[in-house]
Amino acid sequence: MGVPLIHRRYEPAAGNDHDHCAFCWAKFMAEDYPDVLHDGYTTTDASHWICDQCFHDFRERFRWHLVPDANTTDLTNRWSAPLPAVYLRLS
Ligand SMILES: [Zn+2]
Repeated sequence: MGVPLIHRRYEPAAGNDHDHCAFCWAKFMAEDYPDVLHDGYTTTDASHWICDQCFHDFRERFRWHLVPDANTTDLTNRWSAPLPAVYLRLS
């Protein structure tokens, strides 16, 4: 099986204020700056982030599969909305 990924709002890890897409180096930040991403795909431990474009470009090659985000403790209700269409197509 491929790696499970979660689509979620970007939350910086402790001691860090940003991350980069693992493939194209697009920048993820919580703050609102030009040309930064505020949500994307991440591994279940949030150690790697992947932008929307790279997810679509590479998901078949790496056999990623999208899983529901179990960590909703500090997130707003928008993340309890129905799963993205991409999940429905993959399941
Ligand atoms: Zn990317």
